[in-house]
Amino acid sequence: MEPDFDVLIVGAGVVGCSCANQLSKYELKVALLEKESDVCAGASKANSGVVHSGIYSQPGSLKARFCVKGNELFPAFSKELGIEFIRMGKLVVARNENEEPELEELIKAGNRNRVPGLEFIDEEKLRKLEPNIQGQKALWVPSAGIVSPYQLTIALAENAKVNGVQIFLNTEVRDISQKNGYFVVKTNRRELRARYVINCAGLYCDAIARMVGIEKFRVYPCRGEYLILDKSLGHLINHMIYPVPEKGSGGLGIHLTPTIEGNILIGPSAEYIPDKEDTASTKKAMNWLLEDARTFLERLPKDAYIQSYAGIRCKLVPEGSNKPGDFLIEEDEKLPGFINLMGIESPGLTAAPVISKEVVDIIQKKEELIPKKELKTWRAKQRFDKLNLDAKEKLISENPNHGHLICRCEKVTKQEIIDALNNPMGVRTLAGIKYRSRAMMGRCQGGFCKPRIIKIMEDVYNPDAEEITLRGEGSFLFIGKTKDLRRHDNKEC
Ligand SMILES: Cc1cc2nc3c(=O)[nH]c(=O)nc-3n(C[C@H](O)[C@H](O)[C@H](O)COP(=O)(O)OP(=O)(O)OC[C@H]3O[C@@H](n4cnc5c(N)ncnc54)[C@H](O)[C@@H]3O)c2cc1C
Repeated sequence: MEPDFDVLIVGAGVVGCSCANQLSKYELKVALLEKESDVCAGASKANSGVVHSGIYSQPGSLKARFCVKGNELFPAFSKELGIEFIRMGKLVVARNENEEPELEELIKAGNRNRVPGLEFIDEEKLRKLEPNIQGQKALWVPSAGIVSPYQLTIALAENAKVNGVQIFLNTEVRDISQKNGYFVVKTNRRELRARYVINCAGLYCDAIARMVGIEKFRVYPCRGEYLILDKSLGHLINHMIYPVPEKGSGGLGIHLTPTIEGNILIGPSAEYIPDKEDTASTKKAMNWLLEDARTFLERLPKDAYIQSYAGIRCKLVPEGSNKPGDFLIEEDEKLPGFINLMGIESPGLTAAPVISKEVVDIIQKKEELIPKKELKTWRAKQRFDKLNLDAKEKLISENPNHGHLICRCEKVTKQEIIDALNNPMGVRTLAGIKYRSRAMMGRCQGGFCKPRIIKIMEDVYNPDAEEITLRGEGSFLFIGKTKDLRRHDNKEC
């Protein structure tokens, strides 16, 4: 029996989507399997969005090599996908003399990793660059940049999709075996056969490996919590502001990171936790994040944040380990065609374009891959709010939906909601619209626009409002019509 696919990719985070996008450039039948209702459901949507420089990675490690290369590739990579990337630079700030020796260590590692342009700056220059930041000395890292991690992941998936990759959402891989030389992948929906399986399951990479008898990996989840500051405070910093990292803490320390959209992120904390699904925001960490951020930025108001979130690091080393842990990217020696991508923690977002090229190289060493003659490109439209007045007027005269503002905080129009609903993957959840249009991401967090968006969803593809979900299966927004319920026994209300 012929296999259904040449390559099955398990997990649609930034790494799986980047692999799908790379492989879509060749004459191959590729499928991407994701257990959640949309791509970018794991660490890829809940991180700092930093395109790292490579100063933190152990010289000689895969992390160092892939990070520096990824950083170099990012301008072209983001241009190819039509998404924004800003190389704004970062300052690693020593708050007192005790932290200065650690800065020396960082510049040494950075130079060994060939990170360009590193230099120390004194307090006076720091004040000029960042008048609101308190610090004594800083390491200037000009190559560090920012990107929207969900825009990136969605763009990778959508381009893969228009170039023939089949994307199966709500599809959880439950078992993998081998039969007649193929991998047989059982999911909650169907069984698929393929010649190659690429394990990009992030936090669950160990579980996927165990399905084929590879027992040697264990993931230690380490939660990182964040606060998002209101855009009105975006002017407080001009660059990314990082502390000197504390050795063995599991993270890089609480930093202040501007986002592509103009907010500032505070975080992440670093806490090893037993449960891979526990993305709670805790009062303890939220208080601590604010307190720590105020040691850099005294002017930070205590009630300045509009939202919190948490991402979980996929660590291959346990708490307290003095080893930094590295990426592991390999075809299993006993299972030809089974490619494991393990421990893809930070800087995995930065390294994604390089990791996916590495995967293509592994396959290319085994067989000749024929590039497709023609590739299609899918571009999300430019945000209406970012257009000039003439362009806005022209669009409104062609289609009045462009002149109908739905999300007041993020300035998202009705047409942008409709465009988000018409995405190539057919994702029709409220969260799917949020990540594609930015509606509901502003100060009021959807308080004003959510009902309007639901009305547009009803008008555009005609679902019953009770079928609309936040994030797919089980996450219904409504339990019924209030008038209907009042007539019945309303215990559920
Ligand atoms: C707090 C934090 C901050 C970070 N900051 C940065 C940063 O600033 N810069 C940077 O470069 N990196 C950063 N990283 C790292 C970066 O986010 C990750 O390396 C990257 O997102 C990993 O992508 P991934 O695709 O491997 O994993 P994920 O995004 O976790 O994707 C894995 C996917 O697999 C799916 N899946 C799992 N099991 C199954 C199954 N059985 N069947 C089907 N699907 C399955 C999941 O639902 C998920 O969607 C950070 C990470 C964290 C947690």
